[in-house]
Amino acid sequence: MECTNMEQKSPLRNQQMYGQRIYYIETFGCQMNVRDSETAAGLLETLGFSRGTDKDNADLILFNTCCVRDHAEKRVFGNIGALKELKDENPNLIIGVFGCMMQQQEVAEKLYKRFPFVDIVFGTNLLSRLPAFVESADSGARTLAVDENNIQIEDDLPSIRTGKINAFVNINFGCDNFCTYCIVPFVRGRERSREMAAVVEEAKKLVSEGYSEITLLGQNVNSYGKDLPDASFAKLLSLVSGVEGLKRIRFMTSHPKDLSDEMIAAMATLPNVCHHVHLPMQSGSNEVLKQMNRKYTRERYLEIVGKLHAAMPDVELTTDIIVGFPGETEDDFFQTLDLVERVGFASAFTFKYSPRKGTRAATMEDQVPDLIKRDRLRRLNELQEKKSRANNEKYVGVTGLAHVEDCDQRNEPVCYGKFSNFKMVYFPGSPDLIGKYVRVTITNVRKNSLYGKIAE
Ligand code: SF4
Repeated sequence: MECTNMEQKSPLRNQQMYGQRIYYIETFGCQMNVRDSETAAGLLETLGFSRGTDKDNADLILFNTCCVRDHAEKRVFGNIGALKELKDENPNLIIGVFGCMMQQQEVAEKLYKRFPFVDIVFGTNLLSRLPAFVESADSGARTLAVDENNIQIEDDLPSIRTGKINAFVNINFGCDNFCTYCIVPFVRGRERSREMAAVVEEAKKLVSEGYSEITLLGQNVNSYGKDLPDASFAKLLSLVSGVEGLKRIRFMTSHPKDLSDEMIAAMATLPNVCHHVHLPMQSGSNEVLKQMNRKYTRERYLEIVGKLHAAMPDVELTTDIIVGFPGETEDDFFQTLDLVERVGFASAFTFKYSPRKGTRAATMEDQVPDLIKRDRLRRLNELQEKKSRANNEKYVGVTGLAHVEDCDQRNEPVCYGKFSNFKMVYFPGSPDLIGKYVRVTITNVRKNSLYGKIAE
């Protein structure tokens, strides 16, 4: 259902040329949102706006919101409220809010009503209409637009890339998995894949623009292609791998239930596919995994990890883990610690479970008290730190190829970049190395990072 509400607010209020105007975008949430903001930037620049880095001097401020984390709404509403002062000082300022939080009709309406100084509120699915919304705002109209059914893939939208050395490429959108704690399927819609040819074309274009590393993005890349004839993630990897000039291909996120042997074989044999998998485990307890509707068991998870290691001895695994899911007992939590111990993740994003309105888990009985969640999170983090450190130790004396991302020049210049398997390395170097591939030998490690020097 689409709801579009345009409200005439004042007479024509902006006679400035677009070319003189600055936009500022603030992005919350995941890489998918970062990619959407790049598209928003591209659309604004086709209108003649230029990018700014400071909202105080902007003529247009856009907030790209995320609804995955609890309290996200409170935070976004607080941030928007703080913009009133800027609007009072500059009535020509256009303020817009979009993203997956605004894809929730009820929340979008609430924000639109509470903040009359916000000009544009729209859901993620309507991003391509941003230029029309801006033009309406220029003529003094307010817009509220949410379309739950608009799930077309629009391949030709302009975008301004923000990654210095790595570019994000969407391969599929939405999610069909309905994990019981997650709001994403409700706001991003059912899963749909881009055509393989469109992904390959985008990769080629990125190489022509100077990128040699890309990250293929989807809520669940492993199920890519299930809605297309004769397509799969393994096939896509193989096609993208053939793009001349592409040195590194990363991807995220991988759902364990869809990680196929075919995909492991593709990773292991295609020379430019990086040996890193972000494989959210969420829990080590079969009972909790069932309640989460994750559709795999701890045994299956371990089996996949075994296959990945057998095919690629240098592969690194990272993960997401939730503690304190409703009904999680001390024994369930022990199973999580045990799985973390066995797998040996390079790093993990760990979270206390927090209920998201609109999800099944939010209404489950046996919610775990916060004190217990905190204690479990602390114990999990202690274990993961130990495992990360042990994992890092094995790199001392190892030489690898780092793709240099940046150089910190505040004191002694220190460059940093990642090995192919996602390990971040720091080493003395100069800014002219940014974007280059440099051989680095690891000499020492700290809790989360590897330190080294340029190899002889
Ligand atoms: S796989 Fe599960 S956690 Fe990931 S986006 Fe889909 S529903 Fe959410």
